[in-house]
Amino acid sequence: MSVKIRFLGGAQEIGRNAIEIDHDNSSLLLDYGASFNSTVDFAMPVQIKKLKGIICSHAHLDHTAGFPLIYSSSLAPPLFINSTTLDLTNLLIQDFIKISKNKLQFDSTVLPLINEKARIIEDHSEFHIDDFFVKVVSAGHIPGSWVTFIEVGGKKILYTGDINVYDSFLLKGAEKINEDVDLMICESTYACLNHIPRARLIEELVNRSLEVLDNGGNVLIPSFSVGRSQEIACMFTKNNVDYPIYMDGMARTASEIILNHPESVRDYSLLKESLSKVKIINGKKDRKEALEEPSVIISPAGMLKGGAATYYISRIIKEPKNAVFFVGYLAKDTPGREMLEKRIFQSEKGQEPVKSDLDWFGISSHADMKGLIDYIRAINPEKLVLIHGEPFRMLEMSKIVEQELGLDCILPNNGEEIQV
Ligand SMILES: [Zn+2]
Ligand SMILES: [Zn+2]
Repeated sequence: MSVKIRFLGGAQEIGRNAIEIDHDNSSLLLDYGASFNSTVDFAMPVQIKKLKGIICSHAHLDHTAGFPLIYSSSLAPPLFINSTTLDLTNLLIQDFIKISKNKLQFDSTVLPLINEKARIIEDHSEFHIDDFFVKVVSAGHIPGSWVTFIEVGGKKILYTGDINVYDSFLLKGAEKINEDVDLMICESTYACLNHIPRARLIEELVNRSLEVLDNGGNVLIPSFSVGRSQEIACMFTKNNVDYPIYMDGMARTASEIILNHPESVRDYSLLKESLSKVKIINGKKDRKEALEEPSVIISPAGMLKGGAATYYISRIIKEPKNAVFFVGYLAKDTPGREMLEKRIFQSEKGQEPVKSDLDWFGISSHADMKGLIDYIRAINPEKLVLIHGEPFRMLEMSKIVEQELGLDCILPNNGEEIQV
């Protein structure tokens, strides 16, 4: 029996990952996400009754936001997931439903249905789902993230999910799986792009923050809730920054969840120490207090698309002694990107000029081109599929992979099916 792979989303785009592996008329689904541009677009429909299971690589919504569509059905299969990812997925889907304000075909009553079908799997486990043999190891991307290996019908498939190959304060780089892989499905967010070395970025960010703090200013760090906010807190502890660090918005609950899962991080005592020093903001009074003394405020949203950071932003950018330091990916047409490029913040009140210091430190939780190539070389698959990237960069990367590694490289479209 042949093994077929259908790409239901995430091919030729960053967002809504969903991959169906089909063998002998039963199938396994890897992730089921949505993309968030001007509209919310879910992965393409899947035949639920054929599914023996869904494996969740990690909690980000581009990999999970479509779960409610499947788990609203009584035919929904078990969800194979670790406990960190399940808790974070509950948090992120709940928030997604809340900010979508009744524009979705489901509401939060679907969450218990997802949890009922969850089968908790520990990292490094090996298990069977029907005819599919599965192994999972850590992907180094966010706490709980997996690289997934599947063997079925004599074929061996590796799915990276989202990976980071470099160690951070929070996580170790992605682990490798020692198997002869026929087909590797690899993310390529940073195809053909290399990061500035992490240590240099961290040093610069700490020094620039200290300059602002020593001059009596506030540093606002708009940050993703899951992973990045905790990483930044650890960074200040590791570098002995002796100023108050505040945390606001959803980063607070994400921190609690990660603290509840010591197995999901690299250095639990560092995380615990860092988060115990962090002052958690509860309400207006705390927010005012945070701005009344030299301090660092870590708060989502990372791209300033809503979130608690929007409370601080107008107040921070008014004063030259303050700073806004972005620490993550800034997508086109987001308030964060606009602010960085034009030094203007577009608020409800109109355009506000940025008088404070402003900069971007591209600390990434994805592998860059060098990291991706090293990881692919270590796995050494028969064939490579690139997904989760910008189309023109993936095309460029496929040529490099074919020349340098002598690998067959496939760039599927959404809806396309390939035979392993
Ligand atoms: Zn991700
Ligand atoms: Zn992703």
